[in-house]
Amino acid sequence: GATGTFIVGGNWKCNGTHDSVEVLVNGLNAGTIDANVEIVCAPPFVFLNQVLDTLDKSKFSIAAQNCWIGDGGAYTGEVCANMLTDLSIPWVILGHSERRSLCGETNDIVGTKVAYALSKGLKVIACVGESLEERESGTTMKVVEEQLAAIANVVDKTGWKDVVVAYEPVWAIGTGKVATPDQAQEVHAGIRAWFANSVGADVASSVRIQYGGSVNAGNCAELAGMEDIDGFLVGGASLKAEDFVTICNSAK
Ligand code: PEP
Repeated sequence: GATGTFIVGGNWKCNGTHDSVEVLVNGLNAGTIDANVEIVCAPPFVFLNQVLDTLDKSKFSIAAQNCWIGDGGAYTGEVCANMLTDLSIPWVILGHSERRSLCGETNDIVGTKVAYALSKGLKVIACVGESLEERESGTTMKVVEEQLAAIANVVDKTGWKDVVVAYEPVWAIGTGKVATPDQAQEVHAGIRAWFANSVGADVASSVRIQYGGSVNAGNCAELAGMEDIDGFLVGGASLKAEDFVTICNSAK
């Protein structure tokens, strides 16, 4: 496993109201969190200020779920990296499978976004993962390696210190069909091997690799016990404070 701190992200996706965010934040603030875990909550853009003002930042950091590919300007509907750093938001999730499949984000677009966000001082949770069809045809590692290579092509070696890789098999996201601990471990080990061969042994041993896809309060402990699982990226279960706190405290 990686040398760094266990890291859990909560991806709230396109959910919530002002009032439900208040309830969730209050629940999170009330939770008892292990000292040795890093936690990043990613609300929708419109709730970032509310969460910045109310979430206990001694326990939780904040991420955006996406940002624009470059400088701000005439890009209606977009939010750029500088706007996030201006609000002191340290993290951004990039390349989530929903953005890849629903919003047309290619490997190259995701690579460019990651490089640009890093250049502006953001830390990045970079998501990769194969579809069911790709898994069944035996191309999982090829797909994941191509997604990683598109980032490595434009990010220099030192940049990886601010990147967390989220391995999220598409077939496990929001489906209730979690990867088995062995399935996840196999890909995480493969990702670490790819880093060793393609980026450097130092990055391979330090890069944190999260598993994402139907993680919940019941299945997190077994997954967290796997050698190369260094944290989780959590969707649905991150909307329930109690479950999310359980997941955050599942580190080995
Ligand atoms: C996600 O979207 O990052 C995710 C893992 O979702 P869920 O936990 O709901 O499967």
